[in-house]
Amino acid sequence: MSYVFKLRPSIKNYEWGKLGLQSTVALLSKSEGFQVDEKSPYAELWIGTHSSGPAVIPSLEDTKLIDWISTHPDSLGKNISNSFGNTSGLPFLFKVLSIRKPLSIQAHPDKETAKVLFEKFPGNYPDDNHKPEMAIALTEFEALCGFRPKSEIESFLREIPLLKELVGTKTAEDFMHNLSDLKPLFTALMTLPQNKFQPILSQIVEGFKEDHLNQELCQSVRELFLKTHTQYPGDIGCFCLFFLNYLKLEPGDAIFLAANEPHAYLSGDCVECMATSDNVVRAGLTPKLRDVTTLCDILTYNCRTSEENKFQPVADPNDPFCRIYDPPVKEFAVDSISLEHRDDPYSLRVIESASVLLVVKGSAKYTYGNETGDFGVGSILFIGSGCKVDVSRSHGVLMFRAYCNANCT
Ligand SMILES: [Zn+2]
Repeated sequence: MSYVFKLRPSIKNYEWGKLGLQSTVALLSKSEGFQVDEKSPYAELWIGTHSSGPAVIPSLEDTKLIDWISTHPDSLGKNISNSFGNTSGLPFLFKVLSIRKPLSIQAHPDKETAKVLFEKFPGNYPDDNHKPEMAIALTEFEALCGFRPKSEIESFLREIPLLKELVGTKTAEDFMHNLSDLKPLFTALMTLPQNKFQPILSQIVEGFKEDHLNQELCQSVRELFLKTHTQYPGDIGCFCLFFLNYLKLEPGDAIFLAANEPHAYLSGDCVECMATSDNVVRAGLTPKLRDVTTLCDILTYNCRTSEENKFQPVADPNDPFCRIYDPPVKEFAVDSISLEHRDDPYSLRVIESASVLLVVKGSAKYTYGNETGDFGVGSILFIGSGCKVDVSRSHGVLMFRAYCNANCT
């Protein structure tokens, strides 16, 4: 059996996904013969070996990729086997997300916390692994990411007296006078009982509607605040807009979320890569289980500007068509490869790691040894470690390739 073959992903229909063919997830799946229902949400597409959404090999009667790898462990390559052994499949999970409605305010635990949570609450935290993740925008993409600079949080406390009252004047002033960090303040807010915060949330909503909160910073979140409150009426997560940076990404922009960084994806489509894990600690904007105490406890309370939360790719010095997103984790890196119309073959670089390649735009042919195949929107290729794949007759191809990078410590 060849070490290069097509994969079929696992599709998730979470209710926050974009509907029908508005969803990039549905568009990518459709090209592989998948029937799309216009009324259904298509939220996530998973390419990997996680048991909750395993990729399969259509040419091998839908054998799971994880099972194929277990009988071909040499396909993983030394970047993976040296760090992770060769028995647990791919160390990374590659996804596409199409978001219609904000996802929960969340963070992902570090390795130590993940182990503890998994032992205590395996039903809520299914993996004993950490989950650093990186999102690369495919369309205009909105997210909340990391805590705002201290000066901005202070401005909100000053401009919205009700907010200060809600968390307690002393807690707020201690923070403003540098007598405490953000943790007591944020914890006080997020652990408030419903009957306490609900009336004040309603008053703040009215304040925005009637344009009483007209200072510049308040105005910058006005529209988003009202929209979020319409989508999640009465949800405590609405207050997070005053504490977390609001980012707008253009296609190709990225954010990297280290362990314990608070974030929420709000709208748009992206590719996402993460360590193989499904651990999420949630605190708001969700119908799912909330674990506010754990979240407030594990968060890193680093205050940064929204620009500082963006993650920059680097140009591949040997390849003008490739940009490399290589975050400071061992499990994954992602190449973005953009080929205009070209007939001459383009060689994908040879990597000492198993990789998965996803075509999001255009069409082409690929060659591996004596084998050739067609690429179109939504094609996914597994490429075993050390395999050389050439791409030819490219028409406006944009593709992403996830792999494990050994250079990272
Ligand atoms: Zn996340």
